[in-house]
Amino acid sequence: MTAFSTQQVQAGYTPGIPQNSAVPPIYQTAAYEFASLADAADLFALRRAGNLYSRNASPTQQVLEERVAALEGGASAVAVASGQAAVAVTLMALAGRGGHIVSASQLYGGTVDLFQDTFDDFGIPVTFVDQDDADAWRAAIRPDTRALFAESVANPIAQVLDFRLVADIAHEAGVPLVIDNTVGTPYLIRPGEHGADFVVHSATKFLSGHGTSLGGVVVDQGSFDFGAQPERWPQFTAPYPRFGELVLWERFGIGQAFAALVKSKYVHDLGPSLSPFNAWQILQGIETLDLRVSRQSATALALAEHLAAHPKVAAVHHPGLEGNRWHALAERYLPRGAPSVFSIDLRGAEDAEAQARIARVVDSLEVFRLVANIGDARSLVSHPASMTHSHLNAEQRAAAGISWNTIRLSAGLEDSADLIAALDRALARL
Ligand SMILES: *Cc1c(COP(=O)(O)O)cnc(C)c1O
Repeated sequence: MTAFSTQQVQAGYTPGIPQNSAVPPIYQTAAYEFASLADAADLFALRRAGNLYSRNASPTQQVLEERVAALEGGASAVAVASGQAAVAVTLMALAGRGGHIVSASQLYGGTVDLFQDTFDDFGIPVTFVDQDDADAWRAAIRPDTRALFAESVANPIAQVLDFRLVADIAHEAGVPLVIDNTVGTPYLIRPGEHGADFVVHSATKFLSGHGTSLGGVVVDQGSFDFGAQPERWPQFTAPYPRFGELVLWERFGIGQAFAALVKSKYVHDLGPSLSPFNAWQILQGIETLDLRVSRQSATALALAEHLAAHPKVAAVHHPGLEGNRWHALAERYLPRGAPSVFSIDLRGAEDAEAQARIARVVDSLEVFRLVANIGDARSLVSHPASMTHSHLNAEQRAAAGISWNTIRLSAGLEDSADLIAALDRALARL
């Protein structure tokens, strides 16, 4: 198979269109013209694949889908408007009507909102478990469970998932494991090699790397056989009235049927479509993914080592550090290094003064930008308890390992000496 760095600049695109552009073009068109009425009818009935309308897909988006599928070692992919949309359509497609989800409680804040508010409205119940507790995963699985969900490396505390353990529990129960690999990136970890069946990304973060564009992708690893227990998965194995009683599993099969369902139903009906321009921006970012991620990971480790010895820092949550609770899992699953998103706990009690003390540090921190984002070329800082995780109650925050003294850092591409000097100056204000 072609190497990662070759795939990230070439997979999914072969120049050969009449205009012969070397770089995938932006197909900025809402719709596509049919050769004939018969051609249109074939496309609408899914008898033939092709361009139809940009809510379903654009050729720029298809290059992105093939490229991310290649980088994750998967069979197919669907790109959508945001990471949030990727998580939503993936789990809705798996849950079908009446399905239940078991999720790690160590999650991105937006995913927590989706699961406990909107999915609750939709009648998709989600049970949260501590991702390190194998018995809790097993105990939460019910006859109507249709997926297990976790992040490869959670944020902000950078807990590393024991992929193999959770994948085995999912497969014993006959359900797929879905991994959000936004923080991990396929350069550092390919969850599909450790048992994950579906991998989702917020392409807004490391895949783009430039912080200009929202996007999301879900990759089908082609490992989960919906035909093994067909009565559980009628959305794939029963005749689909919308397409003349077509059975998706028979027509598309393993590795392709999931993408067909997500596109023809969830993206088509709900409309979280990726714009051709954003698809193109994300493709530009992916071309340098390995270079950026390896540099950012090395910088983050240097910052973590410096901060671990800093008198104003009570704890550094970076799995690359010896003594970190997830260090052994990082050594096993992340041989190229841990991701560049990690957190520190500043010294001090969680008293009435805490907020003002933290604000002094964050507001005086130079070089790092105060932004609710990660994986950017710029180094970023955030305060989870008042920003990304502000909707969580105190108990959920504690379960996620966050206190008022927690500050999240995302190391960018700047010089690490500048970043360390900026941190030292700001910490002096604590
Ligand atoms: C940002 C993020 C999301 C949501 O992605 P958007 O592109 O912002 O919609 C989901 N999961 C994780 C881990 C994220 O960091």
